[in-house]
Amino acid sequence: MDKKIGFFICTGCGIGEALDVAALCKVATKEGKAPSCKQHPFLCGQEGLEFIKKDIAEGVNTVVIAGCSSRMNYDVFDFGPEVIVERINFREQVVWCHPANDEDTQMTAEDYIRMAMAKLKTLELPEPFVPEDVSKDVLVVGGGLTGLTAALEVAEAGYRAVLVEKESNLGGYTAAFYKQAPSRPPYTDLEPNEVPAKVQAVTDNPNIKVYTSAVVEKIEGGPGKFDVTIKTAGGSAGERVGAVILATGAKPFDPTPLENFGYGKYPDVITQAQMEELAAKGKITRPSDGKPVQRVAFIQCVGSRDKEHLPYCSAACCVESLKQAAYLKELNPEAQAYVFYKDLRATGKYEHFYKRLQDLGTVFVKGETSAIKIEQSGGQLVVQGEDVILREKVNLPVDLVVLANGMVPTTAGEENILNLAYRQGPELPILKYGFPDSHFICFPYETRRTGVYAAGSVRAPMHVPAAVEDATGAALKAIQVVESVSRGAAVHPRSGDLSFPEFFMQRCTQCKRCTEECPFGAINEDEKGNPLPEPTRCRRCGTCMGACPERIISFKNYSVPMIGNMAKAIEVPEEDEEKPRILVFACENDAIPALDMAGLQRMQYSNWVRIIPVRCLGSLNLVWIADAMSKGIDGVLLLGCKHGDDYQCHFVKGSELAGIRLSKVSETLDRLGLESERVQIQEVSIMDYDQIPGIIDRFAARLDELGPNPMKGF
Ligand code: SF4
Ligand code: SF4
Repeated sequence: MDKKIGFFICTGCGIGEALDVAALCKVATKEGKAPSCKQHPFLCGQEGLEFIKKDIAEGVNTVVIAGCSSRMNYDVFDFGPEVIVERINFREQVVWCHPANDEDTQMTAEDYIRMAMAKLKTLELPEPFVPEDVSKDVLVVGGGLTGLTAALEVAEAGYRAVLVEKESNLGGYTAAFYKQAPSRPPYTDLEPNEVPAKVQAVTDNPNIKVYTSAVVEKIEGGPGKFDVTIKTAGGSAGERVGAVILATGAKPFDPTPLENFGYGKYPDVITQAQMEELAAKGKITRPSDGKPVQRVAFIQCVGSRDKEHLPYCSAACCVESLKQAAYLKELNPEAQAYVFYKDLRATGKYEHFYKRLQDLGTVFVKGETSAIKIEQSGGQLVVQGEDVILREKVNLPVDLVVLANGMVPTTAGEENILNLAYRQGPELPILKYGFPDSHFICFPYETRRTGVYAAGSVRAPMHVPAAVEDATGAALKAIQVVESVSRGAAVHPRSGDLSFPEFFMQRCTQCKRCTEECPFGAINEDEKGNPLPEPTRCRRCGTCMGACPERIISFKNYSVPMIGNMAKAIEVPEEDEEKPRILVFACENDAIPALDMAGLQRMQYSNWVRIIPVRCLGSLNLVWIADAMSKGIDGVLLLGCKHGDDYQCHFVKGSELAGIRLSKVSETLDRLGLESERVQIQEVSIMDYDQIPGIIDRFAARLDELGPNPMKGF
């Protein structure tokens, strides 16, 4: 593209008062070779926009706007797919964090102009990759409450759903529930089970194709073109779909190994699922002799919140026990329920239901439920425990004990469910306790396999209304991905990005770093070991670009030379001027927002820094550090997201990868006699903005102690 640049400086928001704008225009036109440089007091206003649009109408196709952060007004400064827009952050990262009318602040602004103009030299408009034969159908695996809801939501939004259920009937675990806990005002009354009606609605919906007694044998391809092989009772079937929702739910925890509860030993000690079956018969009787029950003990947290078994709260069992205690009263008003609990987790509107159960005379006994012992003597069950509120031992004779046994995700077993044809393995990566990683910190339902979403109790322990909500969210995500793929656009976190990585394969050495480091399994290998990109799986993080030692992976609008040129465009003063320079590579997901927030709060920090936003620290290519150090930059600071078990990195492991790469740089710097402390990595979350001045100023102070980069001037 032959770029015709229009350069605009906004003098609003204090920029005009803090900087010598005429001098900046000289840098843009003389050094940056911008054909013109115009200023306006309010570029984001109607008049300012018309000012820019007039130039576009006269042939400008590349607009540089020096004003606020690119995180602000991005929709206002969108002039359509044919116009490149480059933003320079004079507001949050120059005048709001450095002193006004100061020589160093002016130099900072001038450098940002040089960096932007250097970037534009190689930046091109992205050309989206739109695959042929895109399918907008959605595969839902699992026909329980979550799967039924997801399929219905997809179909009602006008898309076709394909539902695969392992069992011969739809409905799953909750189909057998006698009733549901209240979900509507006044939140005190039992409601009919909604699952049978959902099964009927799915069966009747012409937009939903149902396979029962069927499993997924294989899923190949990527979003928009997943080819699914389904094994059915009679043979196999093929479906092309655009997205996948995993909704296989959880299984009840087997309480047999917890011998103190007597499950499997005493027939009148049962699970919550067995209690549903009893209630559905219309009369709650003892399994041992069929006699009606009068006194029933419900024991909470059986297996749950126990580091030996299920270290997590199973989230649904407290409300389920309240519901079953209500069954007891409904079917026999003379009966008495006792609920033994550690903490009763009836959150939100369920508080009303909990109060109603108290009003009905339910006795709640607080204590350590894992220490409870169930004994039987003379045919009578006795619950032995402790009431920590009354500080007394409990020896309670009852007719029936119901164990609130927790839930175990179906992904925790050995069995494969999705059978994804991915280099990284056939299933979703597991985060903790057998639950697939659904990147819970930033985006529920999202997984590390683009276009594959987990919903319901397979994703996290949850009760009925939460599973319904989850199914709806996952259905929307599935629709979002099929629509994005059909436009060639990325989904979260770079939603709408039309760029994708291009490989200059002639120089590939088949080192496999890109295939191994891509966090999303977007690069398979062909039979000769060459990387085989699946562009629709790509999240555009640039990790492959940072990993490639040959530097042959690039995006039209993000590449190794582009960032390298920005670093090299920084003007480095002579040693005797005592103006050190610090280059900050800041991840656009958390570090850039944190820097902007620091600016918004008018927090001041060293104006030795020059900031280059990067898509992810995982995209860091070591040559950038070499470029910066050889240019005479005194120190390089990498600011990225936190990593670890509860990672916050939007691209899963960017900071971790940058840290690993950096360890290699440190050795090289030491060998060259350059202190390795000149290159540091810091992890920040968006909420750490108040730490930004400290992080930068401490680094600046250390560089001051180390003295100038000895490569300065060479
Ligand atoms: S940009 Fe990120 S998601 Fe895409 S192929 Fe490269 S490493 Fe994978
Ligand atoms: S990292 Fe680069 S050289 Fe290595 S396999 Fe990938 S494309 Fe080829």
